[in-house]
Amino acid sequence: MKIIKHYLNGQDHDGGDRTSDIFNPATGEVISKVQLGDKKVVNEAIDISLKALESWSKTTPAKRASIMFNYKKLIEDNANTIAELVSKEHGKTIEDAKGSLQRGLEVVEYACGIPNLLKGEFSSQVGTGIDTFSMKQPLGICVGITPFNFPVMIPLWMFPLATACGNAFILKPSERDPSSTLKLVELYEQAGAPKGLVNVVNGDKEVVDALIENKNISSISFVGSSKVASYIYEKSATYNKRVQALGSAKNHMVIMPDADVEQASDALIGAAFGSAGERCMAISVAVAVGNVADDLIKSITPKINQIKVGPYNDKLSEMGPIVSKQALDRIKSLISSGVDDGADLLVDGRDIKLQGYENGYFIGPCLFDNVKTNMSIYKEEIFGPVLSIVRADNYDQALKLVKENPYGNGCSIFTRDGDTARDFSNEANIGMIGVNIPIPVPVAYYSFGGWKNSIFGGHNAYGMEAIRFYTKVKTVTSKWPQGIRQGAEFKMPTLG
Ligand code: NAD
Repeated sequence: MKIIKHYLNGQDHDGGDRTSDIFNPATGEVISKVQLGDKKVVNEAIDISLKALESWSKTTPAKRASIMFNYKKLIEDNANTIAELVSKEHGKTIEDAKGSLQRGLEVVEYACGIPNLLKGEFSSQVGTGIDTFSMKQPLGICVGITPFNFPVMIPLWMFPLATACGNAFILKPSERDPSSTLKLVELYEQAGAPKGLVNVVNGDKEVVDALIENKNISSISFVGSSKVASYIYEKSATYNKRVQALGSAKNHMVIMPDADVEQASDALIGAAFGSAGERCMAISVAVAVGNVADDLIKSITPKINQIKVGPYNDKLSEMGPIVSKQALDRIKSLISSGVDDGADLLVDGRDIKLQGYENGYFIGPCLFDNVKTNMSIYKEEIFGPVLSIVRADNYDQALKLVKENPYGNGCSIFTRDGDTARDFSNEANIGMIGVNIPIPVPVAYYSFGGWKNSIFGGHNAYGMEAIRFYTKVKTVTSKWPQGIRQGAEFKMPTLG
């Protein structure tokens, strides 16, 4: 059985007494084990990172950019291998894995422009003979803790930009699917990043706690569930770390009576059931306004019934299995609670059987109608292929639902009316909004982040937000002697 180790200083590294099983979710088989690190491995990683940081923080941004250009090419050349590693351990289809890699690659492309992104400000003559300039300097060692559902895209939101800013980086990937993440780090070194600049420590809470508690760590970037995000946020604050912690979601799509129903139902199919609903930007609630619900159901039900569920290596598969048995059981129990609570289960994917994959963690797409806000299927993030239709009498009721939901990652509106769309964009208290776009994940030169319980901390991921997060601002006020010595001054300087 393959044992996946940590990756420190450019090589595999043993550490920790515990391991965790990694499964092929399509078959339920254990395919490898990953070592779970401890405080000792964390300390080793930090010593290596400190050493790498000494010279890396002094490299020119142009040199870092040239490595990033090589990295972009290497990722493109290895896209099939990386996607296969994602799919094998996560279960999502190869095409979906490739799509997520492409979205991560966009951030690498953005990091290629790092000399421009790190430019400071300059003001001449802020006082007589006095100039002021500011510069962005690296923080030190930055840490990334990432979730299972995007094992390449989310690490690529983090370490390319952090290191382009001059930092060293320690990555703690999800213990469920670390292989593709490890491959990304190997490729970064092949592209020219020095060994030890990005180190990977595998593990769970023990590693995360040891990283946050260590005085040599400057920042924590976390993406995962809100429960853990809020824990990371509080603990990081206790240890005086800069922290960004992105959490869970319950994304609504509002379908207005004037929307193109076919277009809306096509959009919903991909947004609710793509990647088996295991996306933080998946749409899990369709808010059908006025009389649109019946038409929507008529349009979407046959499309749902045609979704091909299967293992990632079946070219026809459109939706793979759930990541783990535990997650599958939780999804099924939430579906049962929805039925018990009185919602109408119009499409029930629970009993799907795939020949040859009887032990896989498969579930077919599910559709609920008449879901109410007090039901668990509405209140909880299901993180599976379950779409709930909530009926609203009018736009105001639909907007109220969006506003009162405790999560605020993404949402969208389907309408032909510009006034309604504009009002929704302004009024919804949500971080990422789509107008006739179901999954409004921003491009790399904007930034990604929700509002409310979907984020803890003040910075979004990637874009200029990440450059600000991964750097400290230093402001220098300078004056050169002009031959006249003025002697000491004891009053508050006013730069007149
Ligand atoms: P998770 O919170 O269980 O795990 C995320 C990371 O935290 C993993 O690396 C894990 O090892 C670590 N971890 C788990 N429990 C911990 C603990 N008690 N203390 C310290 N560290 C701990 O999340 P997951 O199941 O891997 O991912 C799914 C969740 O992530 C969903 O809620 C989804 O909405 C969310 N997510 C959010 C975004 C976003 O951008 N907002 C993106 C992707 C996923």
